[in-house]
Amino acid sequence: AKAAGGNRFERADPEADARAITRHGLTNALPAALERGEFFIEYQPLVHLGDGSVHGAEALVRWSHPQHGVLGPDRFIPLAEHTGLIVPLGRWVMAESVRQARFWQERHPGSRAGGPLRVNVNLSPTQLHHPGLVADTVEVLERSGLEPGALCLEVTESALIGADDDLLKPLRQLADMGVDIALDDFGTGYSNLANLRRLPVSVLKLDRSFTQSMQQHPADPVDIKIVEGIVSLAHSLHLAVTVEGVETGAQAEQLRELGCDTAQGWYYARPGAPDRIHSLALTDAV
Ligand code: C2E
Ligand code: CA
Ligand code: CA
Ligand code: CA
Repeated sequence: AKAAGGNRFERADPEADARAITRHGLTNALPAALERGEFFIEYQPLVHLGDGSVHGAEALVRWSHPQHGVLGPDRFIPLAEHTGLIVPLGRWVMAESVRQARFWQERHPGSRAGGPLRVNVNLSPTQLHHPGLVADTVEVLERSGLEPGALCLEVTESALIGADDDLLKPLRQLADMGVDIALDDFGTGYSNLANLRRLPVSVLKLDRSFTQSMQQHPADPVDIKIVEGIVSLAHSLHLAVTVEGVETGAQAEQLRELGCDTAQGWYYARPGAPDRIHSLALTDAV
């Protein structure tokens, strides 16, 4: 705390200090944690809204910290992003997820709706800017034997706002190889909808805030109009629409009626161990 200057914002704040110390400690511990294998991935199923069959899963990273227990990505991804450790960490997440998807496919070649199980991996802005992204992705796919079409990379809408050709080029290369690109948290940014045509994306992931407003059945008429508009625009551009954060059957039903294609949320399953995706998909096949 600074010497008293009559400014109440300079008052000591022990909680803020503790948070800063933890942040600092976590940041310093990241590289060793990666080396020691303290990170692990949970997978949350993505289901077809039409028939509820599992078509893949999103990979969500966690940190099993020796003192603090299991930490969610919101606690450390921003730190890893800030220090650049997100590049090796993200590479590990991608390699591990792709290997896992290949394993699911070997055990269980098709979901009920047909088509092999797929995996979605989140990319943060630093990874997007990293020159090794395309080469790393190609290498990971080749090593695992997973076909590029079974990988979907999720990029937030905000990371692509105002994106120039330099930023879009690697994404275009990946899309040309057959990798799907999804626009995550869609509807929270202020991107020009017409801009969508310029982006090499094939999936829109509608932000959870839209799902939340579908709590009631019927939901808020204005939100319904907005979702209807997004779905019709997306489909006219041949993009699929995924909804996230589905917690109730009423939400699922409403979003299905509005034409959304796939869904993810606690209503179906919480993120969990990789084997569960496989067994959910198997149950499906009955
Ligand atoms: P996201 O990509 O938007 O992921 C969805 C988040 O919603 C996940 O939080 C998931 O556990 C949570 N979720 C799923 N279903 C429900 C539901 O029905 N209700 C509610 N309230 N929440 C639900 P999580 O796992 O804490 O991840 C937070 C964020 O961390 C992710 O948001 C993503 O932006 C980031 N993240 C996770 N893994 C990675 C990674 O490997 N790399 C990068 N760069 N970012 C990651
Ligand atoms: Ca995501
Ligand atoms: Ca999201
Ligand atoms: Ca989010």
